Amino acid sequence: MVIVDKEFGEVLVRKNALSSGIKFSVSTSGRLQMSVPKYTNNFLAKRFLNANRELIREKLPVKDPATQRARDAKKKILTKKAKEYLPYRLEYFAKRYGYQYSRVRFSHASTRWGSCSSNRTISLNIGLMQVPKPLQDYVLLHELAHLNHMDHSPAFWAEVKSHDPHYKDHRRRLKAFSPGV
Ligand SMILES: [Zn+2]
Repeated sequence: MVIVDKEFGEVLVRKNALSSGIKFSVSTSGRLQMSVPKYTNNFLAKRFLNANRELIREKLPVKDPATQRARDAKKKILTKKAKEYLPYRLEYFAKRYGYQYSRVRFSHASTRWGSCSSNRTISLNIGLMQVPKPLQDYVLLHELAHLNHMDHSPAFWAEVKSHDPHYKDHRRRLKAFSPGV
């Protein structure tokens, strides 16, 4: 659940069956997160937040709501750009190398650039719109190769390499970027 706070903006509240206390953390994008016991409702979560305001201010660099809004706006623009461009590029490679996928989805997960599920759905991170083209293409070719190999076996990498001979370099350079928006 998400609560909206005047000072901290949107706060993500995670219920944790195993925890008996409250824990605060900040996501890579600057959003405040609270881990709370399972029984916690909206009212209690707000009370925990109020009681810990001082501590959060001191220990956690939470972005203010204006920054949060700017981030949300950026996410919207990237999503639009990604939807306009990535399916077209993916289709181009699929045609060229004879791949068939069932559909494309978009994500904004902060941990991965893309994925390919066993039902042949390819997910692409909107953050790809912020990385250099050769690295973006590498991710698309990587996910397409998963249509034939659902693992990272030598055969998988050989297939990636056949379409992107510099994939090792691209993969290394991609590590300098974060998928999170
Ligand atoms: Zn992979």
